[in-house]
Amino acid sequence: MTVKKQPFRGTDDRRRVGTMIGILGAEYPDAHCMLNFSNAFQLLISTILAAQCTDVMVNRVTETLFQDYPSPQEFVDASPDDIEQAIYKTGFYRNKTKSIKKCCQALIDKHDGQVPSTMEELLALGGVGRKTANCVLGNAFAVPGIVVDTHVKRLAHRMGYTTESNPDKIERDLCEIVPKKEWTHFSHLLADHGRKYCAARKPLCDECPVEHLCPKILA
Ligand code: SF4
Repeated sequence: MTVKKQPFRGTDDRRRVGTMIGILGAEYPDAHCMLNFSNAFQLLISTILAAQCTDVMVNRVTETLFQDYPSPQEFVDASPDDIEQAIYKTGFYRNKTKSIKKCCQALIDKHDGQVPSTMEELLALGGVGRKTANCVLGNAFAVPGIVVDTHVKRLAHRMGYTTESNPDKIERDLCEIVPKKEWTHFSHLLADHGRKYCAARKPLCDECPVEHLCPKILA
């Protein structure tokens, strides 16, 4: 009797992902968070704005936003209308305004206006999900975290590292096989690779440097 081998799970996945990280690391030596920020608070707000929006557009909006709203207090004091107008171009501006106001109020009430540095505290702010929390932890506090954005979600599927659609479960699957110290870096690598080769509509598999390691699950 032949046992059907699970093709891309378990120990092999760990080895495969390790090799991929080496190749993608050489391909994208400058992989980093594409959002512009100069402190944890700015990154937190930018990451909330980045939902369903490009990093380029978020950076364009925050260039002036952070001049008018430099700390949580300014967002709390502002009318929802004013914030909505300021972030309008990032889309879903009503919900994002609610999230920002809720989160800023919690920062003031519970953390003296400072951004906390643990997953539990970030999630408890309200308006902050795991993707946002991991982005802030990884890029502002150097606490490893996998950010399951649209690129990571798409590539994790195509590469056969997950069959899940729920971002929290995708994160769990990736955390099992990616070395912890690489979690943040791995997210940046997949985002860069998604932009350059593995685009949503037309992946360039023939030119892709990890083609030999990828099952190319494109369905
Ligand atoms: S081989 Fe194709 S599907 Fe796999 S990572 Fe490269 S571009 Fe994406």
